[in-house]
Amino acid sequence: MLEKILEYQNVESQLISAENELSKSKDREKASQIQQVLKNQHSRLIMLEENAKHINTIYKKANDKYNDFVEKLNKLEKEMENAEPEKASIYEKAYKDFSAISTSLEKEITNIYNEIQNISKEYENIIRKSKVDRETFDKYKASYAKLKAQKDPIINELKNKLSELEKKIEKDLFAKYKQKRESRLFPIFVELNNNKCGGCRMEISASKLGQMKTNKFGVIECENCGRYIYKI
Ligand SMILES: [Zn+2]
Repeated sequence: MLEKILEYQNVESQLISAENELSKSKDREKASQIQQVLKNQHSRLIMLEENAKHINTIYKKANDKYNDFVEKLNKLEKEMENAEPEKASIYEKAYKDFSAISTSLEKEITNIYNEIQNISKEYENIIRKSKVDRETFDKYKASYAKLKAQKDPIINELKNKLSELEKKIEKDLFAKYKQKRESRLFPIFVELNNNKCGGCRMEISASKLGQMKTNKFGVIECENCGRYIYKI
């Protein structure tokens, strides 16, 4: 009576291993890890581009300000040359103030320039690394695709086999099986082994064993793991 469901379970076991080989493939895992790295690199590049735009604007503004000061300083120098001697000290103070401002502006511009250099260096590094990572990603992806191409026909064949077998199994029995499968339990039907559950090895009581004869399909449900135990 259980022959067909046991056959079904056997085919499903093959299907589970084939699907596991795909889902637990190292190539797939590595490809997905590198994909995450590539995504992070991409976000960082976008961030750096935004930073670069922002800092370029600051750089232009600082540069304009600096040129403006230099112009004013030159004008002041000319005025000083033609100034009356009694006004010399006033001009000298103004000249000193201007010089100090232009020195601090120069420093500011140098700092901004260095920051631009840093951004550009990091940008180039990421581009270089991304290129290598992309190649590694493609390699793992191709390798996984090859495995998938091998496994897919096998998986499809097993699935077809399961659909065919399902038609031959008593509906009640199949419903029992499916209900247990939903909780990811596998295998569902196990053989009684020295009065122990063939799944979890728990000893089965004599009274429970007695139910085997009276229960529909001749199976009992293990109180520990929930599997159906049968006896050949
Ligand atoms: Zn059990």
